[in-house]
Amino acid sequence: MGIDAGLDAVPTLSKGAESDELPKSPSPRSDLFEVQQIPGRGRGLIALRDIAKGTRIISETPLLIVKSMPQPALEKTLAAKLKVMSKEQQRQFLSLHNNHPGQYAFGGIVKTNALPCGSGSSTGGIYPTICLINHSCLPNSHNNWNDDHKTETIHAIKPIQAGEEITIDYSHGDPSHIRQQHLRQSFGFDCQCTVCSLPQRELKASDTRRLQTQRLDDKIGDPTRMLSQPGASLADCRSLLRLLEEEYGEAPASSAARLYYDAFQISVAHSDRPRASMFAERAYRARIVCEGEDSPLTQRMKRFMDNPASHNNFGVYSTKWKGSDKYSPSSLNTTEFEAWLWRRAN
Ligand SMILES: [Zn+2]
Repeated sequence: MGIDAGLDAVPTLSKGAESDELPKSPSPRSDLFEVQQIPGRGRGLIALRDIAKGTRIISETPLLIVKSMPQPALEKTLAAKLKVMSKEQQRQFLSLHNNHPGQYAFGGIVKTNALPCGSGSSTGGIYPTICLINHSCLPNSHNNWNDDHKTETIHAIKPIQAGEEITIDYSHGDPSHIRQQHLRQSFGFDCQCTVCSLPQRELKASDTRRLQTQRLDDKIGDPTRMLSQPGASLADCRSLLRLLEEEYGEAPASSAARLYYDAFQISVAHSDRPRASMFAERAYRARIVCEGEDSPLTQRMKRFMDNPASHNNFGVYSTKWKGSDKYSPSSLNTTEFEAWLWRRAN
């Protein structure tokens, strides 16, 4: 992650375990990508052939997993974990970029490279290959923790051409000045991706869209509004989808999955079975793209698609959309169907 350190500069541990004490992490053998030195970006993953959207590029078990804790305790924990690793695993860990050099050398590597084991998790994982994937504010891939398999997966969220770098998003979709500061402070680089390199005027338009998406996201998450103005909440979900399409070319699958699940929850809370099922299906399809069929969240969406009423909040706000059971959208053309789905007047 970020610009990794040259191997020559890496310290060695005095008491490394022999390489046969633990199974080695598999070296990244893949016909999809190879690790290359990229000028100005350290190591990165380059696609060896065209990769279709939704392809699982890699699934990797962590070298180590750590909980968030104060620096001195973390350093001790990491030293103990490193001691029982194979020499190869130690080399993989120590060769990762450290943007926080100083007293806590191991902790600095973790701080620079750890990926959370699930959304909002205080536990993070370090990976020999996945931590080499560089950032883009317009990424072509998505990283996800699969809690069933205890692996981190990377999926192509758009078609990737042979020779193209595989990228993920280290930021949170913030406007440029916020995300660039975050990338500089946390990872030590100035982002020069296609979005950050836009002419001033276009960058400003992008910033405005990113701000609007965050505001809409907050509004959609407001349960009071979902209760009293579900139609408006649903309209916000659709506006968010359009904004994401404008900003990213197509809505990133992970964002699409979240907003379709929001639309599902609004429909469920007001007892609208057919729309809830349709939104769950869209969330399911988006999750397949960015997490794969075997992701627990993908499977959860599938269950809701098949039986929306199995959700705990079914009918919890009202039964006012229950009448939707009575008509079928199957005879509608695409435009009519979208109008029906989002409860828009034709
Ligand atoms: Zn950028």
